[in-house]
Amino acid sequence: MRRKAIKWWQEELGIETKAEVEGKVRTIVSKYLDKQPVDADDQAWLLKVFEHHYQYTDKIGCGLEHLEVRTNPSSTGRNTRGFWIQRKDGSAIDISWVVSLKPDGMPTEVQNVSNAARIEISDQIHHHHRFGVCNVCPLCNDAMVRRYNLHVDHEIPFQKLFAEFLKSKSLDYESVVLEDLGPESRFADRELAKSWQEYHLANAKLRLTHDQCNLARKAA
Ligand SMILES: [Zn+2]
Repeated sequence: MRRKAIKWWQEELGIETKAEVEGKVRTIVSKYLDKQPVDADDQAWLLKVFEHHYQYTDKIGCGLEHLEVRTNPSSTGRNTRGFWIQRKDGSAIDISWVVSLKPDGMPTEVQNVSNAARIEISDQIHHHHRFGVCNVCPLCNDAMVRRYNLHVDHEIPFQKLFAEFLKSKSLDYESVVLEDLGPESRFADRELAKSWQEYHLANAKLRLTHDQCNLARKAA
Protein backbone atom coordinates (compact mmCIF):
# COMPACT_ATOMS: atom_id res chain seq x y z
CA MET A 1 0.00 0.00 0.00
CA ARG A 2 2.68 2.45 0.98
CA ARG A 3 4.50 3.90 -1.99
CA LYS A 4 8.07 2.87 -2.49
CA ALA A 5 10.57 5.48 -1.38
CA ILE A 6 12.37 6.53 -4.50
CA LYS A 7 15.68 8.30 -4.64
CA TRP A 8 14.40 10.69 -7.28
CA TRP A 9 17.47 12.93 -6.97
CA GLN A 10 19.57 10.26 -8.69
CA GLU A 11 17.45 10.39 -11.86
CA GLU A 12 16.38 14.01 -11.75
CA LEU A 13 19.44 15.78 -10.41
CA GLY A 14 22.15 13.26 -11.19
CA ILE A 15 23.16 13.30 -7.52
CA GLU A 16 23.84 10.03 -5.74
CA THR A 17 22.93 10.70 -2.10
CA LYS A 18 20.44 12.79 -0.19
CA ALA A 19 23.30 14.21 1.88
CA GLU A 20 24.90 15.60 -1.28
CA VAL A 21 21.62 17.25 -2.28
CA GLU A 22 21.38 18.81 1.19
CA GLY A 23 24.95 20.04 0.89
CA LYS A 24 24.23 21.70 -2.44
CA VAL A 25 21.09 23.40 -1.06
CA ARG A 26 23.05 24.74 1.92
CA THR A 27 25.73 26.08 -0.42
CA ILE A 28 23.07 27.97 -2.37
CA VAL A 29 21.50 29.33 0.83
CA SER A 30 24.85 30.70 1.99
CA LYS A 31 25.53 32.43 -1.36
CA TYR A 32 22.70 34.93 -1.00
CA LEU A 33 21.78 37.80 1.28
CA ASP A 34 18.28 37.95 2.72
CA LYS A 35 15.68 38.96 0.11
CA GLN A 36 18.18 38.79 -2.72
CA PRO A 37 16.61 36.88 -5.65
CA VAL A 38 18.49 33.68 -6.47
CA ASP A 39 19.92 33.55 -10.00
CA ALA A 40 18.29 31.68 -12.87
CA ASP A 41 20.49 28.58 -12.67
CA ASP A 42 20.05 28.16 -8.92
CA GLN A 43 16.33 28.80 -9.23
CA ALA A 44 15.88 26.19 -11.96
CA TRP A 45 17.76 23.63 -9.85
CA LEU A 46 15.90 24.48 -6.65
CA LEU A 47 12.53 24.15 -8.35
CA LYS A 48 13.41 20.57 -9.27
CA VAL A 49 13.69 19.97 -5.52
CA PHE A 50 10.66 22.01 -4.48
CA GLU A 51 8.31 20.41 -6.97
CA HIS A 52 8.45 17.33 -4.72
CA HIS A 53 6.93 19.32 -1.84
CA TYR A 54 3.40 18.03 -1.28
CA GLN A 55 2.00 21.59 -1.33
CA TYR A 56 4.10 22.84 -4.26
CA THR A 57 1.18 23.82 -6.53
CA ASP A 58 -0.60 25.71 -3.76
CA LYS A 59 2.59 27.46 -2.72
CA ILE A 60 3.36 28.64 -6.25
CA GLY A 61 -0.25 29.86 -6.46
CA CYS A 62 -0.74 32.52 -9.14
CA GLY A 63 2.84 32.10 -10.36
CA LEU A 64 6.47 32.44 -9.35
CA GLU A 65 8.18 35.82 -9.60
CA HIS A 66 11.43 34.59 -8.04
CA LEU A 67 12.88 32.57 -5.16
CA GLU A 68 14.76 34.31 -2.38
CA VAL A 69 16.46 33.43 0.90
CA ARG A 70 15.12 34.83 4.16
CA THR A 71 15.96 34.39 7.80
CA ASN A 72 13.10 32.71 9.62
CA PRO A 73 12.88 33.89 13.21
CA SER A 74 12.69 31.15 15.79
CA SER A 75 11.30 31.27 19.32
CA THR A 76 14.37 29.41 20.56
CA GLY A 77 16.65 32.11 19.19
CA ARG A 78 18.26 29.73 16.73
CA ASN A 79 17.30 31.42 13.51
CA THR A 80 17.32 29.40 10.32
CA ARG A 81 17.64 30.61 6.76
CA GLY A 82 15.37 29.17 4.13
CA PHE A 83 13.67 29.82 0.81
CA TRP A 84 10.64 31.95 0.09
CA ILE A 85 8.52 32.01 -3.02
CA GLN A 86 7.85 35.57 -4.14
CA ARG A 87 4.70 35.39 -6.25
CA LYS A 88 3.64 37.47 -9.23
CA ASP A 89 0.86 39.14 -7.20
CA GLY A 90 3.32 40.44 -4.58
CA SER A 91 2.49 37.83 -1.93
CA ALA A 92 5.18 35.50 -0.55
CA ILE A 93 5.30 32.14 1.24
CA ASP A 94 8.07 29.98 2.62
CA ILE A 95 8.82 26.54 1.20
CA SER A 96 10.86 23.92 3.02
CA TRP A 97 13.59 22.00 1.21
CA VAL A 98 13.81 19.65 4.19
CA VAL A 99 10.17 18.64 3.64
CA SER A 100 10.70 18.40 -0.13
CA LEU A 101 13.38 15.75 0.42
CA LYS A 102 11.28 13.62 2.78
CA PRO A 103 9.38 10.57 1.46
CA ASP A 104 6.42 11.82 -0.59
CA GLY A 105 7.63 15.39 0.09
CA MET A 106 5.70 15.49 3.36
CA PRO A 107 6.40 16.16 7.03
CA THR A 108 6.12 12.97 9.06
CA GLU A 109 2.78 13.94 10.70
CA VAL A 110 1.25 14.70 7.31
CA GLN A 111 2.52 11.43 5.94
CA ASN A 112 0.95 9.57 8.87
CA VAL A 113 -2.43 11.12 8.05
CA SER A 114 -1.95 10.28 4.39
CA ASN A 115 -1.09 6.65 5.26
CA ALA A 116 -4.20 6.42 7.44
CA ALA A 117 -6.27 7.78 4.54
CA ARG A 118 -4.92 4.92 2.40
CA ILE A 119 -5.83 2.40 5.10
CA GLU A 120 -9.38 3.80 5.18
CA ILE A 121 -9.96 3.01 1.51
CA SER A 122 -8.03 -0.27 1.38
CA ASP A 123 -11.25 -2.30 0.98
CA GLN A 124 -11.94 -0.45 -2.27
CA ILE A 125 -8.42 -1.23 -3.47
CA HIS A 126 -8.77 -4.92 -2.60
CA HIS A 127 -12.15 -5.04 -4.30
CA HIS A 128 -10.69 -3.52 -7.46
CA HIS A 129 -7.82 -5.96 -7.32
CA ARG A 130 -10.26 -8.86 -7.47
CA PHE A 131 -13.06 -7.50 -9.63
CA GLY A 132 -11.77 -4.46 -11.56
CA VAL A 133 -11.51 -4.49 -15.36
CA CYS A 134 -8.46 -6.53 -16.36
CA ASN A 135 -7.88 -6.55 -20.13
CA VAL A 136 -5.00 -4.38 -21.17
CA CYS A 137 -2.41 -2.62 -19.04
CA PRO A 138 -3.02 1.12 -19.56
CA LEU A 139 0.68 1.85 -19.14
CA CYS A 140 2.15 -0.52 -21.75
CA ASN A 141 -1.00 -1.53 -23.71
CA ASP A 142 -0.12 -5.22 -23.44
CA ALA A 143 -2.62 -7.84 -22.37
CA MET A 144 -2.94 -8.51 -18.65
CA VAL A 145 -3.90 -11.66 -16.79
CA ARG A 146 -5.39 -11.23 -13.32
CA ARG A 147 -2.75 -12.19 -10.79
CA TYR A 148 -2.08 -11.18 -7.24
CA ASN A 149 0.91 -9.07 -8.24
CA LEU A 150 -1.02 -6.64 -10.46
CA HIS A 151 -1.13 -3.11 -9.05
CA VAL A 152 -4.19 -1.01 -8.43
CA ASP A 153 -3.21 2.46 -9.57
CA HIS A 154 -4.90 5.81 -8.92
CA GLU A 155 -5.29 7.50 -12.29
CA ILE A 156 -5.94 10.75 -10.41
CA PRO A 157 -3.01 10.76 -7.97
CA PHE A 158 -4.06 9.64 -4.50
CA GLN A 159 -2.48 12.67 -2.82
CA LYS A 160 -4.41 15.05 -5.07
CA LEU A 161 -7.69 13.25 -4.40
CA PHE A 162 -7.21 13.29 -0.65
CA ALA A 163 -6.13 16.95 -0.65
CA GLU A 164 -9.29 17.86 -2.58
CA PHE A 165 -11.43 15.92 -0.10
CA LEU A 166 -9.85 17.80 2.82
CA LYS A 167 -10.42 21.09 1.03
CA SER A 168 -14.08 20.21 0.45
CA LYS A 169 -14.41 19.70 4.22
CA SER A 170 -12.41 22.86 5.03
CA LEU A 171 -9.85 20.68 6.80
CA ASP A 172 -6.09 20.44 6.54
CA TYR A 173 -3.87 17.45 7.25
CA GLU A 174 -3.02 18.68 10.72
CA SER A 175 -6.68 18.72 11.76
CA VAL A 176 -7.21 15.01 11.10
CA VAL A 177 -6.84 13.16 14.41
CA LEU A 178 -5.57 9.60 14.20
CA GLU A 179 -6.37 6.60 16.32
CA ASP A 180 -3.42 4.27 16.78
CA LEU A 181 -4.33 0.65 16.08
CA GLY A 182 -0.87 -0.75 16.62
CA PRO A 183 0.79 -1.37 13.28
CA GLU A 184 -1.61 1.02 11.54
CA SER A 185 -3.61 4.13 12.28
CA ARG A 186 -7.09 5.12 11.23
CA PHE A 187 -9.13 8.32 11.51
CA ALA A 188 -10.41 8.80 15.06
CA ASP A 189 -13.53 10.49 13.66
CA ARG A 190 -15.47 7.62 12.08
CA GLU A 191 -17.96 9.98 10.40
CA LEU A 192 -15.03 11.65 8.66
CA ALA A 193 -13.73 8.21 7.66
CA LYS A 194 -17.12 7.33 6.18
CA SER A 195 -17.34 10.50 4.14
CA TRP A 196 -13.77 10.01 2.87
CA GLN A 197 -14.65 6.46 1.82
CA GLU A 198 -17.73 7.75 -0.02
CA TYR A 199 -15.74 10.53 -1.65
CA HIS A 200 -13.07 8.07 -2.76
CA LEU A 201 -15.65 5.65 -4.14
CA ALA A 202 -17.30 8.43 -6.14
CA ASN A 203 -14.16 10.18 -7.40
CA ALA A 204 -11.20 7.80 -7.56
CA LYS A 205 -10.36 6.37 -10.97
CA LEU A 206 -8.81 3.01 -10.16
CA ARG A 207 -7.13 0.88 -12.78
CA LEU A 208 -5.18 -2.35 -12.78
CA THR A 209 -1.65 -2.23 -14.17
CA HIS A 210 1.35 -4.53 -14.36
CA ASP A 211 3.39 -4.07 -11.20
CA GLN A 212 6.57 -3.42 -13.17
CA CYS A 213 4.93 -0.80 -15.40
CA ASN A 214 3.58 1.05 -12.37
CA LEU A 215 6.92 1.02 -10.55
CA ALA A 216 8.76 2.14 -13.67
CA ARG A 217 6.33 5.03 -14.08
CA LYS A 218 6.73 6.17 -10.46
CA ALA A 219 10.48 6.01 -10.77
CA ALA A 220 10.43 8.09 -13.96
ZN1 LIG B 1 2.04 -2.89 -18.39
